[in-house]
Amino acid sequence: MAFIEKGQKKTYISTFRFDLKSSAALQTPLDPSKTKLTNGEESCLKSEKSETADTRKKSPKKSLDTEKRRQAAEVEFLDPQQQVVVGVGGTARLHCRFSSSGPVASCWIHDSEKVVLEGPRVCVMNTSSSSTLVLSEVLPVDAGSYSLFVRNREGTAHWSVSLFVIDPPDPPASCPFVSQLTCTSLVLSWSGPCFDGGSAITGYVVEIQRLDQSEPSDWTELSNQCQNTSFRVRSGLDPQGQYRFRVRACNAAGVSDPSEESDCIKMNTAGESQQEVTSYVEVVPDTTHKARDHYYVHEKLGVGKFGEVFRMTHKQTGRVCAGKFYRARVSREKTAARQEIKLMNELHHPKLVQCLAAYDTPSEIVMILEYIAGGELFERIVDENFEHTEPNSVNYMRQILEGIQYIHSKNIIHLDLKPENIVCVNGTGTLIKIIDFGLACRLEPGKRLMVLHGTPEFVAPEVVNYEAVDLATDMWSIGVICYILLSGESPFQGNTDAETLALVTGAQWEFDPESFDDITDEAKDFISGLLRKDKRTRLSCKKALAHPWIALSDDSNSKSTKSLNKDKIRRFLARQKWKKTGKALLALKRIIRCSKSDAPRSPLISVDANALGKEAELAVASLEKQLRSEPHFHQALHDLTESCGATVHLACTLQGYPDPEVVWLFDEAPLEKTGRVQMNYDKNGTCTLTLAQIQPGDSGIYKCCASNSLGQALCSARLTVQL
Ligand code: ATP
Ligand code: MG
Repeated sequence: MAFIEKGQKKTYISTFRFDLKSSAALQTPLDPSKTKLTNGEESCLKSEKSETADTRKKSPKKSLDTEKRRQAAEVEFLDPQQQVVVGVGGTARLHCRFSSSGPVASCWIHDSEKVVLEGPRVCVMNTSSSSTLVLSEVLPVDAGSYSLFVRNREGTAHWSVSLFVIDPPDPPASCPFVSQLTCTSLVLSWSGPCFDGGSAITGYVVEIQRLDQSEPSDWTELSNQCQNTSFRVRSGLDPQGQYRFRVRACNAAGVSDPSEESDCIKMNTAGESQQEVTSYVEVVPDTTHKARDHYYVHEKLGVGKFGEVFRMTHKQTGRVCAGKFYRARVSREKTAARQEIKLMNELHHPKLVQCLAAYDTPSEIVMILEYIAGGELFERIVDENFEHTEPNSVNYMRQILEGIQYIHSKNIIHLDLKPENIVCVNGTGTLIKIIDFGLACRLEPGKRLMVLHGTPEFVAPEVVNYEAVDLATDMWSIGVICYILLSGESPFQGNTDAETLALVTGAQWEFDPESFDDITDEAKDFISGLLRKDKRTRLSCKKALAHPWIALSDDSNSKSTKSLNKDKIRRFLARQKWKKTGKALLALKRIIRCSKSDAPRSPLISVDANALGKEAELAVASLEKQLRSEPHFHQALHDLTESCGATVHLACTLQGYPDPEVVWLFDEAPLEKTGRVQMNYDKNGTCTLTLAQIQPGDSGIYKCCASNSLGQALCSARLTVQL
């Protein structure tokens, strides 16, 4: 129960209790699972663009033509990998192709720090246009960012590839719990694993074992593609049977070990009929007994902010109930629990869950509720056998309004209306009930009530703004529920809680044309009457019940009976579950890890060449030294014989770094550039001497002399000019 701040004072209470979902929940972490993985081998994504660093330095010495050569001499990465995903023990191949003229030197740096050296598990293969780093028997510590630094004559460029090392996930953190037990069906729900193995959970395998025969049967699979953390077992269950269940989590790397096994589950042969409340009781908490003195406690039905809810049966009558065991450790929690029980005593209406008994002893506070077997309304709606139409939705909204009208007539506000608190009475019918009055408050005449709790997607602007709340505050939430029910879209869902709350206070929303294509104008008018920022202008419960969309619903001619799209509701539910199972937390952790240096880094966050560790910086700097070489002729000059008047080209190819200076000699004297004599030195190191209109006097020995700080080289040829 909430700690309620009364009066005008705007003191923020310490029990700030927005249902916190991870702010990272909807940010998409770099998700290796999107990359298909086969047999533990790595896979990669290609980027569209290459990246070059801007760390070029001028060569210490240049020939006349060096400027021209430099323009075309940058390193350009070609279609490089962005990320590689590999299972633990697999082999990762990080491959980078590049174009560069002239010789190159390169090195790989891990996480900006460590120079990758060849070793028993590490192999680096370099060519003049590529470098491949092969890591075998990959370990989790190998994960991270690998940057290839490539140095050529003109400077250094680098490219970073992220290596994700993934493992199968941990098993689900809890055993599967059973709810909605009938004689032939049940619903299992469990918690996601504590560690997802470094790759998002892709689904669950649900397994069953039969126990009521002479020997327990083998475990068999009920489903190997369960997407959520709950699963409805509809068929194959014998009403006389006894079963046990367990679950495994899957990610791109494989399947986890099984979770702990559930308790032995006996099918509920008593059926569901006994759960209907026939008469309302005034509950006086029992302070001398414990709940277990009177009830058998069975499986967990749900976990909430205030404690855990278990299925129970009364020892004498056999009546099935739900027991809410409060987490009442400190006095504030105890007060809240007692307040909820007290409030429930006033709420006697067929659309509201009924309190049947309560236990309040120093060691526990337990509220016994009527057992509602049908599960969450939205879960029912997405069921394949269920027809989801606008008239059906009217039927649910009317029931919600009837229940809320009753509590509003008592001046009580629910303050936590959201889909998961609307549940179905049984597995087949269309009756619903409202549960969870844990945040409900009574309005005292003449007093302003301010609260700071609720669930961001469903709270009204006045809650977010910490302004006075009243009955209209629930009406806003009913508007949000109706919007989602008809479209599957959540009108104020942002990427983070902060964004959601900002969207709520802005009260800016619209009917997405695509999602509301098949929805009648009356329905839209109904929602528009509820989602109003000024709470004074919102429809009251009474007015909402009188709205034509609700009041004239029997006149089915005016309503579309077209089936509404369930996929978006499915996605909505999956997102809610995802938030609950703590996967959001995992994703958040991964993002935090990613922002640290010990973890996979998005290649989009490029390595800052100026922020390298000492060792890495030295390695990159030494690439320049590795490039150094004295001049060397790859192709020497050839002797030539040509006729007088012709144009000849004497060509040779040269390598060396720093760029050699080139001098041409004719009969030992340096040649000068003239209109007839041209010298060229291109980016590939080709030196060409062109002589136009040769004369007999041009006959002789031509030498090309190259020199740099490391040495010199020379090649020569004879030109013979024929008359
Ligand atoms: P929260 O506010 O976090 O939703 P809470 O602590 O107020 O949780 P409830 O919503 O009352 O707790 O109960 C938690 C879950 O237990 C419900 O979502 C539902 O699945 C299950 N549950 C509660 N009451 C009943 C009931 N009467 N019959 C069957 N299941 C129930
Ligand atoms: Mg609840």
